[in-house]
Amino acid sequence: MKKENDNVILNFPSRLLSPIKLFLEKELVKLKRTKKQLKKDDPFLDENRTIDNSLEEDVDEQIGHFDNEIKSKFLSRQIAQFRTALTRIKIGKYGICEKCGKMIDTDRLAARAEATTCIKCSKESES
Ligand SMILES: [Zn+2]
Repeated sequence: MKKENDNVILNFPSRLLSPIKLFLEKELVKLKRTKKQLKKDDPFLDENRTIDNSLEEDVDEQIGHFDNEIKSKFLSRQIAQFRTALTRIKIGKYGICEKCGKMIDTDRLAARAEATTCIKCSKESES
């Protein structure tokens, strides 16, 4: 019979989890707020946007819009990541890698509380 996992899986005690949960929830609110603000700042959505823009104004708007899109996409990914981490807490799997099921290094979690994969798996998915 094959052993399922050689690593000892430790569940985080709730006295450690509740501050993490609180932190994640707070950050999530902040991220959502930033995203909302970003949407308002999109020059393409500016009500006073004139049709007969000069070329320079047009370029400014394009760059502004592009910049806004990138930031917005990044924020969406962050928001999704924080939501996943919160779900992991809920189902009692916080600190366990989503991909390989091993414990995530606590140093990594200390730096990025929203991490749901270990360093090895996150590097693999990036490359
Ligand atoms: Zn992993």
